[in-house]
Amino acid sequence: MAPSVLHAAALANALAAASRHLAVIPLSRTKLPAVRSPHRGASPPPASAPASPSASPSTSPPISPPVRCLGECGRIGHGVHDATTEPAAVRALFAAAPWATGYGIACGRAPHHLIGLDLDVKHGLDGIAALAALAHEHGFAVPDTVTVLTPSGGRHLWFTGAAGTTVPNSVGRPGTAPGPGIDVRGHGGYLVGPGSITNAGRYLLAPRSPGLPAAPVPAPLLRLLTPPPPPLPRRTAPRHALALVQFVRDSPRGQRNTRLYWAACRAYESGHGDSLAPALVDAATRTGLPRQEAAATVASAARQAAP
Ligand SMILES: [Zn+2]
Repeated sequence: MAPSVLHAAALANALAAASRHLAVIPLSRTKLPAVRSPHRGASPPPASAPASPSASPSTSPPISPPVRCLGECGRIGHGVHDATTEPAAVRALFAAAPWATGYGIACGRAPHHLIGLDLDVKHGLDGIAALAALAHEHGFAVPDTVTVLTPSGGRHLWFTGAAGTTVPNSVGRPGTAPGPGIDVRGHGGYLVGPGSITNAGRYLLAPRSPGLPAAPVPAPLLRLLTPPPPPLPRRTAPRHALALVQFVRDSPRGQRNTRLYWAACRAYESGHGDSLAPALVDAATRTGLPRQEAAATVASAARQAAP
């Protein structure tokens, strides 16, 4: 198919999603935001990349110039921060990226507060089975909801979230996924919209998928996807170190990684990360988390906290 036909189809799909109050951006064949950054003339900020762990804001080298503009400059080309439901603005974004063959749907925004579960079934992982196991363990049913089939044989399940509850992305934060083969697309992330064409192939609505709006996320699942409420003040004094360790040791199975990551972030923020890291890893290991995985999670928190 001619590129212009693919572009027109992607625009039409994006406009249809926008008419259902889903904020969209054009995507290139690499699944990355298609509009080029006005600050570099190359790719847009890496913060919004959906698939590559190396594209997380905490692990990527800073884009030049050192200023991290999220659209404050008023121009387009800021990845998911460009996402809009305004038809004229959607058209303008696509006009600026004639090479776009797909579209992304921003997660975490009103009114739907969209949450995406990306279930991989490759590299020996089976996210579908992992979600079923989580559902069994935590006593919820996975509702029939919008399902998008990915070119690699995985699937995306869409859920509507709740206002006031921020579900973070797990992509690019090793150890924070709720299960093996499950990536979470939440606040600041996006989902590749059905009908998009990528280098890997086409994203398609599953044959019997219900339409929008997606099913509400089950409450136990939402709890698994949401960082635990802070049990301590942000500035953790050394005497609170034990509380952080205890918090990790008390982790229910589905929250081990999330809690460890959270506690490690607090420890690093308060300047006690390095001294507390071994105890946090030990505590997580006692809950059954593999040591290597626990260490990777703490290392990820350290990078997150690095200035
Ligand atoms: Zn800017």
